[in-house]
Amino acid sequence: MKATQLYAPTLRESPAEAELISHKLMFRAGFIRKAAGGIYSYLPLAWRTMKKIMQIIREEMDAKGGQEIMMPIVQPAEMWQESGRWAVYGDEMMRLKDRHGREFALGPTHEEMITTLIRDEVRSYKQLPVMLYQIQNKYRDEIRPRFGLMRSREFVMKDLYSFDRDVEGMNISYEKMYDAYSRIFTRCGLKFRAVEADNGAIGGGHSHEFTVLAPSGESSIAYCEACDYAASDEKAELKIIQAEPEELRPLEKVSTPACHTIELVKNFLNVPIEKTIKAVAFMDDAERLILTFVRGDHEVNEIKVLNVVEGANHLYMAGDKLIEAANSCAGFMSPIGISNAIIVVDQSVMLMSNAVAGANEVDAHFINVTPRRDFDTEKIIVADIRMVQAGDPCPHCGAPLKMTRGIEVGQVFTLGKKYSEALNATFLDEDGSTKNFEMGCYGIGVGRTMAAAIEQNNDKDGIIWNRAIAPFEVVVVPVNAKDDKQLDFAKKIYADLISAGVDVLLDDRKERAGVKFKDCDLIGYPLRVTISPKTLESGNVEVKIRRSGEFMNFACGEAVEKILELLNTL
Ligand code: ATP
Ligand code: MG
Repeated sequence: MKATQLYAPTLRESPAEAELISHKLMFRAGFIRKAAGGIYSYLPLAWRTMKKIMQIIREEMDAKGGQEIMMPIVQPAEMWQESGRWAVYGDEMMRLKDRHGREFALGPTHEEMITTLIRDEVRSYKQLPVMLYQIQNKYRDEIRPRFGLMRSREFVMKDLYSFDRDVEGMNISYEKMYDAYSRIFTRCGLKFRAVEADNGAIGGGHSHEFTVLAPSGESSIAYCEACDYAASDEKAELKIIQAEPEELRPLEKVSTPACHTIELVKNFLNVPIEKTIKAVAFMDDAERLILTFVRGDHEVNEIKVLNVVEGANHLYMAGDKLIEAANSCAGFMSPIGISNAIIVVDQSVMLMSNAVAGANEVDAHFINVTPRRDFDTEKIIVADIRMVQAGDPCPHCGAPLKMTRGIEVGQVFTLGKKYSEALNATFLDEDGSTKNFEMGCYGIGVGRTMAAAIEQNNDKDGIIWNRAIAPFEVVVVPVNAKDDKQLDFAKKIYADLISAGVDVLLDDRKERAGVKFKDCDLIGYPLRVTISPKTLESGNVEVKIRRSGEFMNFACGEAVEKILELLNTL
């Protein structure tokens, strides 16, 4: 393709609202334009990259037995009412009415659509397993659309759904997709981790989030460099921290005037923070008081608390009244002598000895608290309820965990029978019994993957594409396109590269060389081939590697071959 025919309006400035580098660069490099908050047009360069990502996805989905289909974006309310999600999906769902007043939604996801499709068509175990996928626009009226394509309201997603006879089959489908996702993100040239995820509301099965490592990411993950363990901070399992054995002293109440925070009490009593027990008071929807206890230097993980307290769906901070009703007071809480509360104690707290904890009265604490001796173990829940921290031991191999941030670009889930039961989707098994399908769902955000690639690969001059997903692999730049000799020479190399199967752009614009070079760096083509009077004279062409900034000279005769070799390394 020729640059004079390419619609790629580059800009000097990025929009004031753009916070992320990927958002700024996609705007400046002429990849996207905004129509409304979280709603974008993809211009040719973006769409070329997205098509390459989609092609990689298609190849890997097909290789695992996936079949591409296209389902409606406009989905009737009835199927969502049947699954029960019409009411619970909330404001994130974009809803509309037709001229007869019938309600529809713009699909945020397609479990309902595909399950109703399958239930009417697949009747026998002989037709299983089935894996169907599509790549299309999804709609989610995100509360805070931001970061350009990272969190938009209209975005392109690949979603695959698997239907199996039994749990074993479902797990095989899951493994296949896990493997395909690893291949996809590797082929895209991304540094990523498959992170064990909390599958919260869906419950039961397994889930991994494929997370591209980038400091700007919204997810916080713990990972191990010694083995391949990685988990979201919400999910990361923790081992019990063993404490040094010590002689136990008797429990004693001491006065701690105005010491209502761990910081104050630790300083007042002059004890290390690891010797204190911190309380955090929550309330659930039923207004039950849930008192949680962790070591002073640890933080409570609310998701883990929800997972162990039966019947709790949300946690809110508890007010003073509720705490007082439990015979305690804010700032001085401990499980000793408390009533009318659900008490959840972190497993590591139970190993502490001679620690400091609240005395459930104003301006008083207990010292020498030894929870396994002093807490009423019949009345408390002991569990892993704390947030992971850098340096905590890896649950798989014990090496110290590291923390990093990441961007979730894909997620794999086993759904089990959640939707097949809700929507009554069954098949006849070999023994003649009627069974619900065991399902899985698997999504990848195409635009978010492109944005994540830019977050991971950029410098002060612009984007640095990996060859596999670059809008063009090579750009050929005659320094002065008004010079016929240069232009002809450039056209020859351009034609040779096309014949060799390279995706190449000829920058035949009659702009100044500096302008063209700046655009090349901003857009981020992996290789730039420059034709100048100097190269014509010497019979060499100059090749610049975008990522390293290295320049190389190749004799004209071998230029194409050398470029192909170089491309294979990028
Ligand atoms: P998040 O937690 O980031 O809101 P999600 O868990 O709701 O995402 P899924 O339902 O798992 O997302 O969707 C599958 C994939 O679709 C995500 O991994 C992500 O790549 C992409 N995606 C989800 N929401 C958006 C969005 N608002 N904008 C762009 N891509 C998105
Ligand atoms: Mg997700």
